[in-house]
Amino acid sequence: MGGIRCRRLGLQGVLPYFRKLESDEQYGDDPLHGATGPMPISRVDPANWNDFTRATVAALDQLGLENIHDQNGRFEDGYFPPTFTLKGDERYSAARAYLGPDVRARANLTIWTETQVEQLLFDGKVITGVQARRKGGQIIVAAKQVVLAAGALQTPAILQRAGIGPAALLKSLGIEVLADRPGVGQNLWEHASLGLEAPLGEQARQDASTETSTTRHQLGIRISTNVDPATPADLFVHIGADPHSGFATIVFWVNKPSSRGWLNIIDRDPAHYAAIDFNLLADNKDVQRIIFGLKWLQQVFQQPSLAAYALPLSLSRFAVPAPGGPALDSILQDQAALERYIRVNVGGVWHPSGTARLGQADDSQAVVDSTGAVIGVTGLYVADASVMPTIPTANTNLPTFMIAEKLSDAILDSLKESQHVSV
Ligand SMILES: Cc1cc2nc3c(=O)[nH]c(=O)nc-3n(C[C@H](O)[C@H](O)[C@H](O)COP(=O)(O)OP(=O)(O)OC[C@H]3O[C@@H](n4cnc5c(N)ncnc54)[C@H](O)[C@@H]3O)c2cc1C
Repeated sequence: MGGIRCRRLGLQGVLPYFRKLESDEQYGDDPLHGATGPMPISRVDPANWNDFTRATVAALDQLGLENIHDQNGRFEDGYFPPTFTLKGDERYSAARAYLGPDVRARANLTIWTETQVEQLLFDGKVITGVQARRKGGQIIVAAKQVVLAAGALQTPAILQRAGIGPAALLKSLGIEVLADRPGVGQNLWEHASLGLEAPLGEQARQDASTETSTTRHQLGIRISTNVDPATPADLFVHIGADPHSGFATIVFWVNKPSSRGWLNIIDRDPAHYAAIDFNLLADNKDVQRIIFGLKWLQQVFQQPSLAAYALPLSLSRFAVPAPGGPALDSILQDQAALERYIRVNVGGVWHPSGTARLGQADDSQAVVDSTGAVIGVTGLYVADASVMPTIPTANTNLPTFMIAEKLSDAILDSLKESQHVSV
């Protein structure tokens, strides 16, 4: 884990939990996949790849990239049908997979929506519950254990407001310091992204409309920029054509960034968002990775199979094709304009992580131990993307489910050990 000491987080420590959570439609029960978990996993059947995707595949073959078939199999450069939390035509959320009718019927489970946790409550350093806003009023929920899972942008803010965070920040806001953990809100990872788009000509529209899947992005690609040999597969690319919007779109992100940002609350008021700086291009290596990606994509579209579409690629931000960006071919001729464009238009991909990261107590940047317990207080745990020591070289949703599965086992084990209770 990149110099961070974390017990039980090697592949063998996490793989059983990935296998436990998934029901992989194509690969089923094998050493790298699970068949009986609550989360359905599926891929666009390459038999349904549309003509545009096949032309892209031919271009990638011409460049010598390998079809590795399974995104979750061998971790290598190559192309593949992207893996989705998908059953039939429908994406699955955590709520859908985990909160079925049987679970909702449990006597020991109460689910409240539209309830905002405002403050963690302590007696000294021992958690006693949470204060929340619900239906316009304030309520107190007493608890001996609290598991915080508010996501990497809210969990650290809640911790800081409770007095767990960098002591200097907390004191400057008049907050009593319960635990001086300088790492709370730091180590903010995100995948820096950029997009490309081109209006589809009539022929390309017809070709793309052979699409039969509900997912537009039929093709995923991992490549290594070698900007830093220690970070293989550090670019992730989706290429697709959407006959409905009339655009071919390419989105790509730095799959293993070097930059990190931070997050700090601005005052004690839970209604105020924290100040956040993703600092996406703080490390110039990430600019180099994006430039590599643009040059590589230019090469892909120059291969005969895609050149036949004569698509006028221009730069765009991630996710929403926005016509009017600079033409790819011309901006690649002007290094200064290119870097300026990237710095102004870089975005994230909604993968914030790392702001309350795992580690050992003597690691000043660590916030939780390997059971998710917050270091320096008793009874408080974190189980969300905040605890990731480093951002995965991949999307973050499934790794977060894995963390939740692993930490729920660890928390139950530690409760059994410390309280001799059966849970
Ligand atoms: C638009 C979008 C698209 C994405 N697409 C993908 C994708 O295709 N693949 C992928 O792998 N990942 C994707 N992600 C990322 C993925 O959703 C996250 O990595 C994952 O959800 C992180 O889980 P989490 O539990 O850390 O946080 P979250 O899922 O954000 O859960 C935190 C929960 O806490 C609640 N909360 C926050 N503060 C409070 C409070 N004070 N009181 C009460 N509740 C609170 C929030 O409402 C939320 O329900 C996407 C994210 C977004 C936003």
